[in-house]
Amino acid sequence: MKRILVTGGAGFVGSHLCEYLLKQGNEVICLDNYFTGKKQKIVHLIGNPWFELVRHDVTMPYYIEVDEIYNLACPASPVHYQYNPIKTIKTSVMGAINMLGLAKRIKAKILQASTSEVYGDPEVHPQPESYWGNVNPIGVRSCYDEGKRCAESLFVNYHKQNKVRIKIVRIFNTYGPKMEPDDGRVVSNFIVQALQDKDITIFGDGTQTRSFQYVSDLVEGMVRMMNTEEEFTGPVNIGNPGEFTMLQLAREILDITGSKSKIVYLPLPEDDPVQRQPDIRLAREKLGGWEPSVPLREGLVQTIQYFDKLLAEGT
Ligand code: NAD
Ligand code: UDP
Ligand code: UDP
Repeated sequence: MKRILVTGGAGFVGSHLCEYLLKQGNEVICLDNYFTGKKQKIVHLIGNPWFELVRHDVTMPYYIEVDEIYNLACPASPVHYQYNPIKTIKTSVMGAINMLGLAKRIKAKILQASTSEVYGDPEVHPQPESYWGNVNPIGVRSCYDEGKRCAESLFVNYHKQNKVRIKIVRIFNTYGPKMEPDDGRVVSNFIVQALQDKDITIFGDGTQTRSFQYVSDLVEGMVRMMNTEEEFTGPVNIGNPGEFTMLQLAREILDITGSKSKIVYLPLPEDDPVQRQPDIRLAREKLGGWEPSVPLREGLVQTIQYFDKLLAEGT
C-alpha cells in the first residue's frame, strides 16, 4: 500500500484517478481549491478510511509525507483557464515549484499532468514527443500553454539538479463522465446542447480536428507511467489517435442522442489549434502494453448517459 497525493483530485480527471488508486488498495489524499472541481465528484469516497480530502491551493506551500504525487491541479478548459490568466500561470508554475519542493524533501516520486497544448498550433502532424511546438507566447492561450511548458522545464531541472524522481505525461483531449455541464470544452458542450435540443455551437467552420480519449484510458496510462522504470521520465503522450473534425463530433452526438438541435457556426477563438493528433508509439513501447481501448462512439454513449441522468436530476 502506498500513500498518494493527488492535486486537483476533485476535478474531472482527478476524481477518476482518486477512485482508481483507492481501488488498487492505496491511501489517497485529494487536494483541491475547488476552482473548477467539486466535492460532489468525490463525495462517495468520503467515509472511506483510506481517503482524505484537503482544501488547499497549490500556489501555497504544503507539507505532508507521501510516497507519490500526481500533480493535476490546474483548470483545463479554455473558458476557465482564461478567466483569471495570471492565476492560471501561478497555479502551473508556483504549483509545480511547491510540489517539486515537497517531492524533493520527502523523496517522493512525482508525475506532472502536462498537455498536448505544449505543441500549440502544431506544424508537425501527428505530434511526437520530440516536436518542440508552435506556441504564441503572448496569445490568449499562453497562460495555460506557457505555464505548462514552464512546469515541464521545472520538472526536468529538479530531476537533473536535485535528483527528484519525475514523470511527465502530455495528455491529449480527454472526455467522459464527471465533466461539468458548464465546463466549456467541446464534448460536454455538444452533449448538453444536444440533450436540451439547444443549438450546437461549432466555433469556426468545424473542420479543425482533435483526437478524443476516454477518461479510463488516460487514468490507466497515467498510473502505468508512474510505475515505469526509474530512468524513464518522459515526456510521454497519452491520447487516442482517432482524429475527428468538430463537425464529425457534432454529427456523432446528434446521431446517438437523436436530438432535434441545429448546428450553428460561431467565430473561431483566437489561436485555436487547427489540428491535433498524438503519436503514441513511445507510450505503446514504455507503458507495458498500454493502448487506448475505448472508441469514440462507445465513450460518447457512456458520457451521454451520465449527462442525461445528471440533467434529469437537475444538478
Ligand atoms: P478540471 O478543471 O476538471 O480539474 C482541475 C482541478 O484542479 C479542479 O478540481 C480544480 O479545482 C483544481 N485546481 C485548479 N487550480 C488549483 C489550485 N491553484 N490549487 C488547487 N487545486 C486547483 O480539469 P481536468 O480535465 O480534470 O484536468 C486535470 C489536469 O489534466 C490538468 O492539469 C489539465 O491541465 C490536465 N490535462 C487535461 C486534459 C483533458 O482533456 N482533460 C488535457 C490535457 C491536460
Ligand atoms: N515546499 C513545500 N513543501 C515541502 C517542501 C517545500 O511546499 O515539503 C515548497 C517551499 O515552500 C518552496 C518550494 O517548495 O517554496 C520549493 O522548494 P525548494 O526546496 O526547491 O526551494 P527553496 O525552499 O530552497 O526555495
Ligand atoms: N469548440 C466548438 N464549440 C464549443 C467548444 C469548443 O466548436 O462549444 C471547438 C474549439 O474551438 C476547438 C475544439 O472544439 O477547436 C476543442 O475545444 P476544447 O475547448 O474542448 O479543447 P482545446 O481547444 O483546448 O483542445
